[in-house]
Amino acid sequence: MDEAERVGRVSVTANVFLTLIKGITGISAGSTALIADALHSLVDVLGSALVWIGIRIAQKPPDEAHPYGHFKAESLAELGVGLIIILTSISIVVDAVNSLISGEKPKFELYALAVAIISALSNEVLARYKIAVGMRTKSSSLIAEGKHSRTDVISSLSVVLGLILVYFGYWWADAVVAIAISVIILQMGGEIIKNAIDVLMDRVDEEFSMRIRRIIEGIEGIKSVDFVAVRGTWRSRIVEVHITVSSEVGTERINEIMEKIERLKDSFPEIIRIIPVVRVSREIRRIAVPVDENDNYVGDLNAKFFKVIDVKSGKCWKIRNEFWNAQKMKGYLIAELLSKNGVDLIVVKRIGEGAKNHLKGKGIIVKFAEEFDLKDVRLNGT
Ligand SMILES: [Zn+2]
Repeated sequence: MDEAERVGRVSVTANVFLTLIKGITGISAGSTALIADALHSLVDVLGSALVWIGIRIAQKPPDEAHPYGHFKAESLAELGVGLIIILTSISIVVDAVNSLISGEKPKFELYALAVAIISALSNEVLARYKIAVGMRTKSSSLIAEGKHSRTDVISSLSVVLGLILVYFGYWWADAVVAIAISVIILQMGGEIIKNAIDVLMDRVDEEFSMRIRRIIEGIEGIKSVDFVAVRGTWRSRIVEVHITVSSEVGTERINEIMEKIERLKDSFPEIIRIIPVVRVSREIRRIAVPVDENDNYVGDLNAKFFKVIDVKSGKCWKIRNEFWNAQKMKGYLIAELLSKNGVDLIVVKRIGEGAKNHLKGKGIIVKFAEEFDLKDVRLNGT
């Protein structure tokens, strides 16, 4: 058993114990605040149980009946638990309000005070333990858990305060503390339900989608990334990617691209499934023509400019070929420059084999002037 798991077990055992003694004491001493605090501990136990369910059931690999995995089982459990939490905390608020209205005075019981103090101390010990182990194992989730235990300390301390106020004759203090604690529990319940609904409704994880999109846009040979959506939980994610590639890149290249997309699973082990959709496009959107400063056709990659023609709008403009006299990787650099400018086709008189392959790799079609009617392309402006 690793250290994080041991901390988890200690925490669950302690919270089960605290739930029981606070619940029993709260009922027998008539302290609504202590009952509310008992419910808080119970919610913490249920929270840990949900994480466990998430790991055991939701992590089951996809099967024939459930090809997208089982992670929604966790959300269904969360939905149920969230509803129970909300209903119970509402019933405590109702109880507390009733006792305020009826003016029913709670008795001060020393043993109830003792139990509340024990609860505050136990939670403080748990908080320190979790934070210490979290720091040592560099686990941010354990440190977060430790901080949560600190709020449990405050919850129990407010019960202590309420009971002391009751002792000094402020009989309403117990009910007020109970309402305050219930409001916090209501929030916790609401958050659990919201998370569950987000997963069940396939709400897109925007931040993660952006990260995936940026990686895919960096893969060579993709003309455009048309759609990226990530859904699921932070432990199990499903990624859907739609891309367009030029028909020029060929099957072998498309297979390479698919492999690179599939390799996202190595960097993000929480991805359980990737759904790629590839569209092969023959559409020519922009044509590049190598020219000199006076717009004269040069016809090879030594040209200092490219005239770019947008086929649809008929607009054309000039871009500077900053790599015209590059000593190394000239073909590659120019292919990248043209690809960045959305060029699908280049018209040349002559071209080296290497440069041609670089252009092909970026999905850019190379046409020779004799097989392409240059009259279609207006070189002198629009
Ligand atoms: Zn708590």
